[in-house]
Amino acid sequence: MITSAVRTLATELTGDDLPAYVYDLTALRAHARAVRDALPPGLELYYAAKANPAPAVLRALAPHVTGYEVASGGEVDHVRAAVPGAPLAFGGPGKTEGELRRALTLGVERFHVESEQELRLLAGAAEDAGIDTVDVLLRVNLPLDGERVDGEGVLGAALGGAALAMGGRPSPFGLDPEAVERCLPRLSPGGPLRLRGIHAHLASGLDAPAQVAVAAAITDWARKLSERHGLGLTEVNVGGGMGVDYAHPDRRFDWAAYGQGMADLALRHPGLTLRIEPGRALTVYCGWYVTEVLDIKHSGGEAFAVVRGGTHHIRTPATKQHDQPFQVLPTDTVWTRPWARPAVRDEPVTLVGQLCTPKDVLAGRIPVAELRVGDRVAFAMAGAYAWNISHHEFLMHPRPGFHYLEE
Ligand SMILES: *Cc1c(COP(=O)(O)O)cnc(C)c1O
Repeated sequence: MITSAVRTLATELTGDDLPAYVYDLTALRAHARAVRDALPPGLELYYAAKANPAPAVLRALAPHVTGYEVASGGEVDHVRAAVPGAPLAFGGPGKTEGELRRALTLGVERFHVESEQELRLLAGAAEDAGIDTVDVLLRVNLPLDGERVDGEGVLGAALGGAALAMGGRPSPFGLDPEAVERCLPRLSPGGPLRLRGIHAHLASGLDAPAQVAVAAAITDWARKLSERHGLGLTEVNVGGGMGVDYAHPDRRFDWAAYGQGMADLALRHPGLTLRIEPGRALTVYCGWYVTEVLDIKHSGGEAFAVVRGGTHHIRTPATKQHDQPFQVLPTDTVWTRPWARPAVRDEPVTLVGQLCTPKDVLAGRIPVAELRVGDRVAFAMAGAYAWNISHHEFLMHPRPGFHYLEE
């Protein structure tokens, strides 16, 4: 599970170098290449930068992605600087007028418009800047209720098991279908805004067949909208949300099946460019949060291991209420203390961090063969929504080190 490059560094780092985020960029590149190869050639792959915007990660992905999805003015500036020239699609709710102006100045390639007010702000900003063509995708919040999606019930069935539904129910994201229709007059030829297509990001945590079903429902809806109004839409962005399984790190999203399904979908819609924008499923596997065991004790009959660092560095298990998968890297330090090296053997142990809150749990009651003070622990699946979603300042512990490994 852990790559040899990460394991080697994890054992070389001293206690004071820990905790550390270690990213295997070679493994990331291989994974991104395999994903790209599984997708039909005409399908555009964007990376959702919010999953992990580290410049080294953005750059490692560059040869394998068409562009980047950005969701704030900060991300627009950051990604433009990290990978100059790469196409950007600017989404996200609550874009300010200043952010829109800045994005226009930087020549952002696609705007994912989330509301009627945003469409007006964007048109005004484009006019002020003297820009006569701005490429727009309207983000739609398609209802899950089958009756309302062409009577097929596809979306509802597909989203039944979604971990985190972003749409299909009352939501601050995107436009209801009726609102999309109301926007169309503002996108008529002659104005600065050119409607290129439809964007949707309805759920995360779906498996490949469900993702294909959702993509088909979005695409069919967009196609009918285009035909009904003679829009000549050429693009559909069906979002990200490809599932990853923290309980089974080896069970990966079936990109081959997904690619096959999307190839079939593309065949049914000639002339339409399909686009996806995954984040987590691209980068989650490339990162490890490596730390060491500081203390081991029993309380009320249960074993606890306190590790250096905690959820202020890797908030993922607290946010998602899961056990972060980990691997023990036994470390044979020379034990010079005049007491026995604290250890647990063949029993479940709860791994917690250094924070003074009961929520600082990284993994609960996981059976281990042996865990001793001084052993290294490498938490896997820490390459996405980990460091960058965490509350770093809480309790003023030192920041982790960052290592980006390349061959
Ligand atoms: C967060 C987000 C994504 C990426 O989602 P993942 O679950 O990381 O694949 C894509 N598109 C939009 C609009 C998002 O908000």
